[in-house]
Amino acid sequence: MSTSVIIDPVELTKSLIACPSVTPNDAGVLQELQTHLEKIGFRCTRMPFAEEGTLSVDNLYASYGEGSPHLCFGGHTDVVPVGNPDSWSHNPFEAVIKDGKLFGRGAADMKSAIAAFTAAASNFINAHKFTGTLSLLITNDEEGPAINGTKKVLEAITKNGEKIDACIVGEPTCPKQLGEMIKIGRRGSLTANIKIEGLQGHVAYPQWTLNPIDALTKILNNIINLKLDEGTEDFPPSNIEIVKIDADNTADNVVPQTATAQLNIRYNVLQNEAGLKKILSDIADKELSGSKYQSQIKFRNSANPFLNKKSAFTQKIKAAVDEVTGLDSVFGTTGGTSDARFFKDYCEVAEFGLIGETAHQVDEHVEVKDIQNLAEIYEKIIIKYFN
Ligand SMILES: [Zn+2]
Repeated sequence: MSTSVIIDPVELTKSLIACPSVTPNDAGVLQELQTHLEKIGFRCTRMPFAEEGTLSVDNLYASYGEGSPHLCFGGHTDVVPVGNPDSWSHNPFEAVIKDGKLFGRGAADMKSAIAAFTAAASNFINAHKFTGTLSLLITNDEEGPAINGTKKVLEAITKNGEKIDACIVGEPTCPKQLGEMIKIGRRGSLTANIKIEGLQGHVAYPQWTLNPIDALTKILNNIINLKLDEGTEDFPPSNIEIVKIDADNTADNVVPQTATAQLNIRYNVLQNEAGLKKILSDIADKELSGSKYQSQIKFRNSANPFLNKKSAFTQKIKAAVDEVTGLDSVFGTTGGTSDARFFKDYCEVAEFGLIGETAHQVDEHVEVKDIQNLAEIYEKIIIKYFN
């Protein structure tokens, strides 16, 4: 399966951006990538998934070689909507290069990284014989509900006998400069919806009502004054934010029947889902005990926290990053969730990619030079991994 296919990461980035793959539509982007990977010699399998209440999403699993060790690249081709296209300096799907910058939706998050890894893989395969497996797991469902994407592909390929040992996720990880930060963990995310039911009535006759807002605000006050922990060496303190309060009341002279609030907790490895649920439930129970209020809390835990502390794998990534950029990169855990939360149940995982500053923004862009350097970094990571 030797090949001499040369992939230009910048050209491939441009052709991926040209597909307007706003979640869940892949708009041909997976086929575009697959064509290049097949030229290199990757075996490609498309894995569409659907389930009730969600839109069908396509995914691509591509592998080269056999057995262990198995290094996988995790990425997503879907992008967030462009917002008002007139606010952009260039057509967001034209991948215009100006003053050394490549503009387009998905430039930072994260089509450039997929192109850079594909170029790195082709260079590596051209120049090295290796034992093991090199793969790419690319979903078009990361920016959306992430139900029919990476999680299901991992389940399916594992059933098929694939065993990934290590994964690098290509999300943008650097705040300002390529090479500043490698992410070795992420916080967990728990959403809670609190609903309090009281008794509706006339505001002028409060003795015949039971105002659910009174109870809800007392509960919320206790919650925002919670100090969950002080954080760790690798994580900031766990944080609670109230994001919605509503009483569904259209009148001025009515005490509402119900009041609801929603909050989100981004939590570190000192907390866990069950413990946090208990803390919130206990606060509500204590506040309402002996009253006639009814309460209900619904929870949705979308990610558990994890930390892949300075392993041989993450040290290899750091060495590759530092060699190319000349920086002394740091290991971080900041930011939102990513598909690393799914990989971590199967293998070692770390994240490294471009500068995230303009991700999801109008005029999203990256430095062309950074795409080329990222390809070089990925190639070094692959070489160090299989060495
Ligand atoms: Zn992303």
